Amino acid sequence: MNDKSNNCRVCGLDQGFSPWGENDNVPSYFICPCCGAEFGLHDETYDQIKEYREQWLTNGAKWFDEKHRPEGWDQDSQLKGIPDLYI
Ligand SMILES: [Zn+2]
Repeated sequence: MNDKSNNCRVCGLDQGFSPWGENDNVPSYFICPCCGAEFGLHDETYDQIKEYREQWLTNGAKWFDEKHRPEGWDQDSQLKGIPDLYI
């Protein structure tokens, strides 16, 4: 399955679950360990997502929770995981 519904709308990280629930309409309010966006708070509208992503990238694309950062993490390939609607 590669419909990207498990991926963060801001940074593209695969969360291992759907951050917005089965039908993409019930936000989980979990926090993305990569960009720090809270699902349902920072990623509700396209404009919010763009703005949050821009800020995150401008600040050096730092991991919110460093211990989840995989070795050899590649920012560009992760960004390709952003769901198409939110690019
Ligand atoms: Zn994220």
